[in-house]
Amino acid sequence: MRKHENCIFCHREKIATGILYEDDLVMAFPDIDPINAGHILLVPKEHFLDVDDMPDALLAHLMRASKRLVHAMKEACRPDGYTIMQNGGAFNDIGHYHLHIFPRYDGDGFGYVGGKGTEGVSEEQLGEIWSGIAALLQKEDDCEEMIEHEG
Ligand SMILES: [Zn+2]
Repeated sequence: MRKHENCIFCHREKIATGILYEDDLVMAFPDIDPINAGHILLVPKEHFLDVDDMPDALLAHLMRASKRLVHAMKEACRPDGYTIMQNGGAFNDIGHYHLHIFPRYDGDGFGYVGGKGTEGVSEEQLGEIWSGIAALLQKEDDCEEMIEHEG
């Protein structure tokens, strides 16, 4: 199992907020800087940065765990709704994959801020982006692993 020496999420004993849930592959704990009360982080026990780095079986397991956590959080917090999000690459501040799950309330102030939208991107460039993504999604080698695990 890949562990990084200086990564907080690789070492469960360094999780200051305590462990809410764990099994052989994943663990969940309260976010130390919550958006709302009930903000949970769900992480793989093995060190991965991004969603596309993780083996499909682990990712499927993590998603099943997220369902369980959402259910418990909804029961405990009675929110108006909830948000699940994950920041990747340079925007993963920890460097270890973590899925945010947090309750949402009408008027809680959380939302999208900033971003450039498609400002400065021509219609032609936008078309190239979408056709490039669509073409990559058609590559058989990218699809095979997903299909294998669906059965
Ligand atoms: Zn780590």
